[in-house]
Amino acid sequence: MELNRRDFLKLSGAGAGSLFLYGLLKPETALALPRRLPLRKRIGERTTICPYCGVGCGAIMAVEDGKVVNIEGDPDHPINEGSLCSKGASLRQLADNSSRLTRVLYRRPGGTEWEEKTWDWTIEQIARKIKETRDARWIDRDKEGLVVNRTEAVASVGSVFPNSEEAYLMTKLQRALGMVYIENEARLCVSTAVSANNETLGRGPMTNHWIDLGNSDCIVAIGGNVAETFPNAFKWITWAMEKGAKFIHVDPRFTRTSAKADIYARLRSGTDIAFVGGMIKYVLDDMAKNPQNYNMEYVREYTNASFLVNPDFGFRDGLFTGWDETKKSYDKTTWGYQLDEAGIPRMDGSLQDPNCVFQLLKKHFSRYNADTVCQITGTPRDIYLKVCRNYAATGAPGKAGAIVFSSGACEHTHGTQNVRSYGILQLLLGNIGVAGGGLNGIAGAVNGLGCSLQGRLFHWLPGALPPPMAQHDTLEKYVNGVTSPKSNVPMTASPWTSRPNHIVSLLKAWYGEQATSDNEFGYHYLPRRGGNYSWMNLFEAMHAATIKGLICWAINPAVSGVNSTYTREALEKLDWMVVIDLFETETAAVWKAPGIDPVNNNTEVFLLPAASSLEKEGSVTSSARWMQWRYKGANPPGEAKEDLYIINKLGLELKELYAKEGGPNADAITKLAWDYGEPPDVHRVAREINGYDLTTGKLLPSLGNLKGDGSTSCGNWLFSGSYTEEGNMAARRDLTDDTGIRLFPSWAWVWPLNRRIWYNRASVDLSGVPWDKEHPVIRWDAAGEKWVGDVPDGGPPPGAIHPFIMNWEGRARLFGPGRPDGPLPEHYEPYESPAVNLMSPIQCSPVLAFYAGEVKGERDKYPILATTFRVVEHLHSGSFTRNLPWLAEMMPEMFVEISEELAAEKGITSGSKVVIRCARGEVGAVAMVTKRLQPLPLNGSYIHQIALPWHWGYMGLSKGDSANVLTARVCDPNTMMPEYRAFLCDVSKA
Ligand code: SF4
Repeated sequence: MELNRRDFLKLSGAGAGSLFLYGLLKPETALALPRRLPLRKRIGERTTICPYCGVGCGAIMAVEDGKVVNIEGDPDHPINEGSLCSKGASLRQLADNSSRLTRVLYRRPGGTEWEEKTWDWTIEQIARKIKETRDARWIDRDKEGLVVNRTEAVASVGSVFPNSEEAYLMTKLQRALGMVYIENEARLCVSTAVSANNETLGRGPMTNHWIDLGNSDCIVAIGGNVAETFPNAFKWITWAMEKGAKFIHVDPRFTRTSAKADIYARLRSGTDIAFVGGMIKYVLDDMAKNPQNYNMEYVREYTNASFLVNPDFGFRDGLFTGWDETKKSYDKTTWGYQLDEAGIPRMDGSLQDPNCVFQLLKKHFSRYNADTVCQITGTPRDIYLKVCRNYAATGAPGKAGAIVFSSGACEHTHGTQNVRSYGILQLLLGNIGVAGGGLNGIAGAVNGLGCSLQGRLFHWLPGALPPPMAQHDTLEKYVNGVTSPKSNVPMTASPWTSRPNHIVSLLKAWYGEQATSDNEFGYHYLPRRGGNYSWMNLFEAMHAATIKGLICWAINPAVSGVNSTYTREALEKLDWMVVIDLFETETAAVWKAPGIDPVNNNTEVFLLPAASSLEKEGSVTSSARWMQWRYKGANPPGEAKEDLYIINKLGLELKELYAKEGGPNADAITKLAWDYGEPPDVHRVAREINGYDLTTGKLLPSLGNLKGDGSTSCGNWLFSGSYTEEGNMAARRDLTDDTGIRLFPSWAWVWPLNRRIWYNRASVDLSGVPWDKEHPVIRWDAAGEKWVGDVPDGGPPPGAIHPFIMNWEGRARLFGPGRPDGPLPEHYEPYESPAVNLMSPIQCSPVLAFYAGEVKGERDKYPILATTFRVVEHLHSGSFTRNLPWLAEMMPEMFVEISEELAAEKGITSGSKVVIRCARGEVGAVAMVTKRLQPLPLNGSYIHQIALPWHWGYMGLSKGDSANVLTARVCDPNTMMPEYRAFLCDVSKA
């Protein structure tokens, strides 16, 4: 008999020995005993979650004498089932690494070397710096005289790597200090997907989950190299393929993902809307001819297809109605619905009215015929039509198609509208809410979602609550300002009417007994924002020396920031900077950057050695919304400390300092509830996030128990239910699954309410019967008068409520009137493009955000289109992975992919050194001459594309030029996402 590895592990784990292992795991792990956890003879095994990409694979650390001696994939983990990619497989080198920071380092102004310092001295100094900077530049009132209680002189960036409990405490302390410049790299990764999906569906993140890709009939990956950047997500695509699913890859480069695809379609970088717009037209045309091939009930009942729009709405010559040339923005008045006397949108169920959304959609996309699309994108017409045909087939009831995308789709000046176009296509095909469907945008990092939802973005408090604006000078005004009015549309859930419960419970978690109804629960302690403090504006303010001090949590903007030269100049202007990281990063060592004389750089730098994920305990929330607990394996090296330790110590120091010396709005700090023990107990923080019933002292079972009268506390309403009286839900390891679609409802916990597939009421017809009877997500059990399957997205019986409960219309939006760049996606060329826009006279998005002083490369001087990408061996700026010997050896240097044709034109050979120049600077790289890239036809001629990975910088084991020296400071107007993926350049031999 042949045994595979997992069978072997299962057999060897049978019997009483298994209990021995359960005893070794922390009690939280044993909420439900794993069914298949194997026997391990080595003592001291701990489970963890890989700290890299957003897939969230499980791993097992073998621990001996406080050291991790081996790491392997967790065979019980339902996502990765024991496998790890090269990054995951080299995890042990994070803990066992001679390049790790082990002592606190300090660099004095003008210093040329690091000096070693103690923790006590350093925390005291940092607290003093924060206080001096904050107090000296405190803004108590804005220009209108409104109280704002904020500082714009101290900023915080990063990260997506700390545990969620650490991220939560960072937010709690920094908001109490009055900080408003708080950002992380989610802004630079998938923020546009969140904006698009909020508009289309009502919520931002991924709708389905990795394993669910295995339930799909056809998967399109567009704007992402899933096989390399998210390898264990890709295994579920291959699983679906083995069962007969089709896989389509759309990308400028032929990658490892393309190599596995049934259909590979090449497109020019930055032309996704044209590509998908043509698919939308194909579906709409086919629907007219073959309605029986589509789920028209879904389109009519679950989307706003039937809604009538203002008859004055229109689109001409590349602009929607309402364009104001002076203001360079749209007046959206004509984009609204026609309303009846009761404020309810008028509808036409026949979908024939010329002003109904369905007809407007047809009219708008009628211009996206295959010929025009293929001229724009460069895709061969026959391949393009094959893509359209295959994906349109998922429109039949009972079929499911999934769209998977990542930063390649999002990092554009039109990233939001890219993802809007994916959403429209999915809704027309009835692919949202069903198993094997969805809009699956992948965050690049394991806790990108967790950290963001804990408030690590300027426009979110924990739970994505909007921070107060200046005009919200009372709690009542805030609540009225952020609570949507009750929807007049019958059968809707009126989203956001519970916000008073969320904010009051948050204030109770932050200010405890100091928060009473007499003082508006401490609302006045919160800073009020007066503008947009997002990443790009933050670095503008730093460049202008408005920001004096920066706290940098495991993030490396000197490499990841767009236009790196500008970003590094901004960092050099700081008075002081605190960097908390595992290694000496380019940001910490910006004073050592090429071309900088340290003697002339006066930034004081505190470099704090942090513990890695293997050396601490806490939760992470993956792209798929799975909240998973990871345990401590090793002790941190030398004097390295957990982020939780650092933020706790800093919090205590600042509280003491303000208690002793006072300062503006000092009560916001001194009265902050801060009792986590020393060293801090992460479980106390996790329980605070979950929340308490303050009348009984018991942990809340669910967000439905939150109250706005001060009788409950909850640090983050979205995570209420994650740590209850039954224990730590994120630590669950029960593989029981009777759903038939591999939901694994008792493995870990999913926010909110442990619901695994969002909008699942759209997976059934109006009587609660699943469209796909083989893969039901939920179904109505009439006899039992209850939903069966996943947690329903809205509890009432079928027919009682529309399925898109977060939209006031109750329906998903094909037509989305809320975005500044239009209610429907429209193709515009990137800011720098080799092509003239064939769709309209408007060359690039008329509302793209542009920063003063940014230069623009023109076609005649820079004729080559460049894009950036990632490789499997490195993560983001490479600050971790370029310091791991195995990975640095496997992918040792900066390179550029060049087509054979371009190489021949330029006399470049594979392996030779080349220079890539653009309007903003130049970088050197090794040429990789490859068939992966090919010239694309354009206007009777052709253009060349090149592609550069962006992982390198001037520190670490593996050094190289940073691709982001070349990228421009232009952004999507929705989220200020910079354009990383399309710019013009030229290339020559070095
Ligand atoms: Fe899994 Fe991603 Fe880690 Fe690779 S990097 S092991 S795919 S979580």
